[in-house]
Amino acid sequence: MKILIAEYAGFCFGVKRAIETAYYEIEKNSGRKIYMLGEIIHNPQVISDLSKKGVNIIEEEELDKLTEGDKLIIRSHGVSKKLYDFLAKKGIEVIDVTCPFVKKVQDIVYEHYHKGYSIIIVGDRNHPEVRGVNGWCDDTAYVVNSIEEAHKLPKLEKACAVAQTTLIGRYWEDILEVIKLKVKDLVFFNTICDATQKRQGSAEQLSKKVDVMFVIGGKHSSNTQKLKKICEKNCKNTFHIEDAKELTLEMVKDREIIGITAGASTPDYVIEEVIKKIRFLKGEKEEE
Ligand code: SF4
Repeated sequence: MKILIAEYAGFCFGVKRAIETAYYEIEKNSGRKIYMLGEIIHNPQVISDLSKKGVNIIEEEELDKLTEGDKLIIRSHGVSKKLYDFLAKKGIEVIDVTCPFVKKVQDIVYEHYHKGYSIIIVGDRNHPEVRGVNGWCDDTAYVVNSIEEAHKLPKLEKACAVAQTTLIGRYWEDILEVIKLKVKDLVFFNTICDATQKRQGSAEQLSKKVDVMFVIGGKHSSNTQKLKKICEKNCKNTFHIEDAKELTLEMVKDREIIGITAGASTPDYVIEEVIKKIRFLKGEKEEE
C-alpha cells in the first residue's frame, strides 16, 4: 500500500496568517472581547479551539451588539467597504486579516467601478468573499457562476471581470469566453490565487494515479469542494472527509494506491491523523 500526498495541500498562506494572528491576539489580549466575523476558517476543530479560548463568532446581522473597544477579526475572505465604515464609526478595533490576494480583487473592483466600468464577478454569489468584493462597487456587480448565467448577462458597453480567488481555472476561461461576447470594452483579471491554482493542479495530477482519493477539509469549505470536483473527474473513488473519524474500512479496502489532498483550511495535524488512520485500517499500524 502506498499513500501519496498532493505536492500542495493544506493551509495556504492567507489562512495560516489569519490563524496565527487570531492566536497572537488571544495571547496579548488584556481582557477585551474578541470576536471573529463568521468562521475565520472552515475547519470545525480550529473554530472550536478558538472559541474555547474566548474568540466568539459573530455574524454580520449581529454587529450592532458590539460595543466600543471590542475587537473584531475580519477573516481572509474580506468584507465590504460599507462594513469597515460602520465599524470605524462604532469604535470597534478591527484586526484585519483579509488575504492580500482578496484585497487585490477588492482594489481592482473599486478602481474600475469608479472609472465607470460595470463589474462582473465570476464566482458564487453566496460566498462571503464574493459578497465582500461586491461591496466595493456598492453591490452593483453582475455575479455569474456558470456558462448559462454568463449567457444571461445583458449587453454591456464597458465592464471589468474578476474571479473569485478559489474558482476552478477552467471555469474562468470558459465563462470568460461568453462574457467577451457580451461586453464591448472588456478588461479582465484572472484573480484566482496562486495557492488555489497549485492545490488544484497537484490534486488533479495525483487523482490520475490513485485507486482512491481523500479530499480533507470542512464540508462548507468552497476550495475543498472544488478539489473534490476536480479529483472525482479522474478518480471515481473520491471522498470528501473532514477528519480521520469519517474514514471507514470500506473506503480503503482493496485499494493499493491512496491519494490525499486537503483544502486551504486544513491544518497539518488533521492530515497526519488521516494518514495514521489509513495505516491502521490497512493493518499496518496500531491506532494511538
Ligand atoms: S486560498 Fe488564496 S486567496 Fe484564499 S486565503 Fe488562501 S492564499 Fe488567500
